[in-house]
Amino acid sequence: MRQEINYLAEFKEEMKETEFHDRKVHKGLRLSGNLVVIFAVVNFLFVFLDYGYLQYDDISVILYHSLIPRAIILVCAVFVFILLKRAENKRAAINSVMVFVILAYLLHEYTAMHFAPVDLVFEVLDLVILTYGLFLIPNRWITNLCVSIFLSIVFFVLTPFTIPTLNIGTKAILIIYLFFQVLIVSVLIYRIHVQERLNYLQQLQLEALAKTDALTKAFNRVACDAALQQMCSNHCDFSLILIDIDNFKQINDTFGHLAGDRVIVKTVDIIKSIVRQDDIVARWGGEEFVVLLPHAPLEGAAETANRMKGVLSAAEAGDTVGKITASFGVTAFREGDDMNSIINRADQLLYQAKQQGKNKVVFE
Ligand code: GH3
Ligand code: MG
Ligand code: MG
Repeated sequence: MRQEINYLAEFKEEMKETEFHDRKVHKGLRLSGNLVVIFAVVNFLFVFLDYGYLQYDDISVILYHSLIPRAIILVCAVFVFILLKRAENKRAAINSVMVFVILAYLLHEYTAMHFAPVDLVFEVLDLVILTYGLFLIPNRWITNLCVSIFLSIVFFVLTPFTIPTLNIGTKAILIIYLFFQVLIVSVLIYRIHVQERLNYLQQLQLEALAKTDALTKAFNRVACDAALQQMCSNHCDFSLILIDIDNFKQINDTFGHLAGDRVIVKTVDIIKSIVRQDDIVARWGGEEFVVLLPHAPLEGAAETANRMKGVLSAAEAGDTVGKITASFGVTAFREGDDMNSIINRADQLLYQAKQQGKNKVVFE
């Protein structure tokens, strides 16, 4: 399974990565939206702190360098919050959070520059929390890493303006510490990204297994019931073929159960080779099968069943089993049908096919 994941901790298959993201991002979006707003509100409240503690006589300094930048961040946060809620393309919408983080940090640095020299500990902890927080955003690992590095670079480039008192030695040590901080977080998150994808693959396997018949690899009855129920309740236009292998008990009794199993597998292979890609083939019971044909009219489904009958009876079943045949009951969805009524109707038609001498298609 590990080989399905590339060195950026993403699925090599683009489709799978998108599906995974849609599931995961969905959960993380609300949290991201809420965090963005909470951060912006707290950040805005710092206006009062600036006003109270900095003791600037000129109110315009507070206005232009604290109130307005913090208000812009608040407005952007509300915009991002709405975008995350409404956007169709969730994966693209999450990038708005990244843009927001970069903008918020740049505005924060702008504010810091005008209140320079600012507190070193406060600024560094700010950056540390931000780079940690970035990795919580359900985005590509590499994007989160690049933005983290970018913010650290912005911090160091602007230190002559925000903390002019910072000496070169302290700056070098800070660079090394922050480098290791980003490195450790990114390695941990990388591992989490890989593990999440491995769990997802396992979950997909389990989901597939729960829907699959072990012998034939066709859908099992549980999956068939679920599909049938959904199609009935959505009033979909579809037809249904119920298939029962003729004289199967005799095959079992004469050639043994293993030969019987092979006949079942062969029958499913033949059915699958005839139906369309959208059709659902399921093993309903021992040697009974259901085919659901979305958008197929009754006559079309009966024709498909006739083709199955022809190919089945002409095929060699292998071993010494000889020819196999099956009987078919074919019906289409009618308004007012539920899962039981449509299956019952197909069952009665199948019974008629057996009564008429087997190896027959009866439809209504
Ligand atoms: P008919 O033509 O009327 O359908 O006769 P039939 O002999 O096929 O009758 P029936 O449908 O009652 O027989 C089903 C048999 O299928 C009974 C059971 O022993 C056998 N069977 C059910 N599941 C399996 C399976 O997984 N493998 C094998 N080999 N046999 C199975
Ligand atoms: Mg049967
Ligand atoms: Mg039978």
